[in-house]
Amino acid sequence: MRIVLANPRGFCAGVHMAIDVVQQLLELCPGEDIYVYHEIVHNKHVVHRFRERGVAFVEDIDEVPEGKIVVFSAHGVSPAVRQAAAERNLTSVDATCPLVTKVHMEAIRYARQGYQILLVGHADHQEIVGTRGEAPDSIQVVERPDDIPNLNIIDPNKLAYLTQTTLSTDDADVIISALKRAFPNIKEPPGGDICYATTNRQRAVRQIAPECDLTLVIGSRNSSNSVRLTEISQNVGTPARLLDDVSELQDDWFTGIERVLVTAGASAPEDLVAGVVRRLVETYSAEIEIADVFDEDVEFAIPATLKRIMRENGVDPSQRKIRFTKPDITESLYGAVPLTVSAGHH
Ligand code: SF4
Repeated sequence: MRIVLANPRGFCAGVHMAIDVVQQLLELCPGEDIYVYHEIVHNKHVVHRFRERGVAFVEDIDEVPEGKIVVFSAHGVSPAVRQAAAERNLTSVDATCPLVTKVHMEAIRYARQGYQILLVGHADHQEIVGTRGEAPDSIQVVERPDDIPNLNIIDPNKLAYLTQTTLSTDDADVIISALKRAFPNIKEPPGGDICYATTNRQRAVRQIAPECDLTLVIGSRNSSNSVRLTEISQNVGTPARLLDDVSELQDDWFTGIERVLVTAGASAPEDLVAGVVRRLVETYSAEIEIADVFDEDVEFAIPATLKRIMRENGVDPSQRKIRFTKPDITESLYGAVPLTVSAGHH
């Protein structure tokens, strides 16, 4: 068996920043209670590991005692949540991904200009809940083309669409084409809203999966971009499995399988990918091939409130840069795995 490890895979700059924010708060404020509003990122292991270190995850700002520190997750929050935190005199540290904030800003701008906004995405996803909260009277959510006839449109010439950052580019194309057919004058977001990390991970799967018999996506079921990676693989005819970690591997998935694409959603830690790879190497004497499709070098700055907390604790924020590097096949994570082939995919 050959394992084809996709690059890029796993952590994006937004997830990396959000996790780093909580880690830094734990180091800067030992003994202080740290609260996170919703899962910091959609990965059960990341959340579990922080819970073990004493971080409390809440679904309602009222659960945070007055005056405490609360972190807003990478998916962003609505203005109502920010307001509720301010009223409780909380120290809010905003770990919202800047690419989600960009969509919030677009929503605010279009709403101020009197546009109705069609927000393409999954209505119950935290990101859509947060974005919708910026202009609830101006925004309607579109999950699929069938929703279009039921929209309440006042003026088809005063319409704009925005999208969730982690959609499948395949699905988004179908919905956006349907919106443009129904409303030819609809305005589109400058540069598109689906983020670079979603696009790159999906492109890598679209490119590599046709050469493989099975795709394994490491990620949690509530991770939108991880689920989308399985769909992209299936769309090109390669069956795909989504798994949180090595414990979910099943022998019967591998009958007659020669090439396995291994990738990971943007919120899945690399050690979980390594755990799966190690097991496949041990069980099936698998060899590893690295498929480099894109290099990423995106980094996001630390939130302003965290910088203030760092200064208050005598730490110079400029000395604590977030360095984001692509996952390496390090021996500490992967053990002494046989790296027999290293191939570029361009
Ligand atoms: S998946 Fe994209 S939008 Fe979401 S946190 Fe990562 S970079 Fe930001």
